Amino acid sequence: MNDRHHLVLKDVQLALDGASLLTLDAEVGPGEILSVMGPSGSGKSTLLAFVAGFLAPAFDASGRVLLNGRDITGLPAERRGIGLLFQDPLLFPHLSVAGNLRFGLPRAARDRAARVEAALDAVGLAGFGERDPTTLSGGQQSRVALMRLLLSAPRAVLLDEPFSKLDTALRQEMRQLVFGRLREAGLPSLLVTHDHADAEAAGGRILTLA
Ligand code: ADP
Ligand code: MG
Repeated sequence: MNDRHHLVLKDVQLALDGASLLTLDAEVGPGEILSVMGPSGSGKSTLLAFVAGFLAPAFDASGRVLLNGRDITGLPAERRGIGLLFQDPLLFPHLSVAGNLRFGLPRAARDRAARVEAALDAVGLAGFGERDPTTLSGGQQSRVALMRLLLSAPRAVLLDEPFSKLDTALRQEMRQLVFGRLREAGLPSLLVTHDHADAEAAGGRILTLA
């Protein structure tokens, strides 16, 4: 548990073709999950792109992103230390399951093989390391994606409707797993979703986009 990480969105305003898309002002503390709800097209993914550093040039943005007190608004995505989970697990198809997890681990990390094994074990996938990720079920792939994210030691996490493609039973299970792990890791997390049950399960504050 890291009780230091802290994400601040300060007076964020996003616009498209001169029309305001959304405004947001929010602080997310360590282990806190802030949910932002809005219908399709309300700008949820755009908001995450702005925070993560890959906003499409079509948008105008103002406001700042602060991570652990540091203004990261001008930094390229790969230097922000922000992890992402999307609807699709987005595992690399040319790497094994273990290869995907190793990709998440910082190169300087010690005990790489043991940490990969422990990560698989932690989500019930012990022994799956050498498998081709495309041979895993959707739920298993989602768990690998979660562990790859955690192994990358992010300082904050963004979640873009990460459960929307899972069937109902699996969705409940993944919500508990993902939110539990993020809280345990002390990561400030921003969830965007159109599903109120996701936001409820996240257990934090819920903001609604107009
Ligand atoms: P949500 O994730 O809430 O469904 P998005 O953030 O994807 O919404 O999209 C917000 C608006 O921006 C939509 O009107 C969408 O059509 C538009 N949009 C999304 N991406 C781009 C882009 N790269 N260029 C231009 N417009 C975009
Ligand atoms: Mg979206």
